Amino acid sequence: MEFRHLVQHARTHSQRRSPETGRRLAAGQSPTALFITCADSRIVPAAITGAEPGSLFELRTAGNVIPAFTHHSASSEMATIEFAVVQLGVSEIVVCGHSHCGAVRALHGGRPALDHLPTMLRWLATHAPFRTTAPTEPGMRAEGQEHVLAQLRALEGYPFVRDRVAAGDLRTHGWFYDIESGEVSAFAADRFQPL
Ligand SMILES: [Zn+2]
Repeated sequence: MEFRHLVQHARTHSQRRSPETGRRLAAGQSPTALFITCADSRIVPAAITGAEPGSLFELRTAGNVIPAFTHHSASSEMATIEFAVVQLGVSEIVVCGHSHCGAVRALHGGRPALDHLPTMLRWLATHAPFRTTAPTEPGMRAEGQEHVLAQLRALEGYPFVRDRVAAGDLRTHGWFYDIESGEVSAFAADRFQPL
């Protein structure tokens, strides 16, 4: 898709929206869920879920990696999760990984594969363990799903997440999006199964 097509669509965006929608959105947001996923261009949360503007608070990171919570530093990721949970009071958090993920491939490819991406190397090395095994198949589905579970564990380390989950006010979900088939699965009863 050429950039000029994106620009053309943006130019006419306001014409495809009702004034009523604009007034509703301007009044504030009360999203249903915080949706954390990879920055990958092939993942379009609104297309996958059918979410309308105002429904999903999104956090997109390299490899849908969630940094471990710490009191000693701040990051955009931690601030975004805090705002969604504490300020907006979302009741659901979805961590959505995906097949054919470049970050998952990098985690299984070893550090030399990231020599030309020193920032990515530091990001992954700080927040996600490198693996010594090669991916089992090109889509790296098993590895990607394991990666989602690791991010869920990191999320549970956020005190305001842990407290609300314990109180029954918040639920976390591990999802996996298959780029090739378009199917979405969710972690339940110890395995990923179709939603
Ligand atoms: Zn990815």
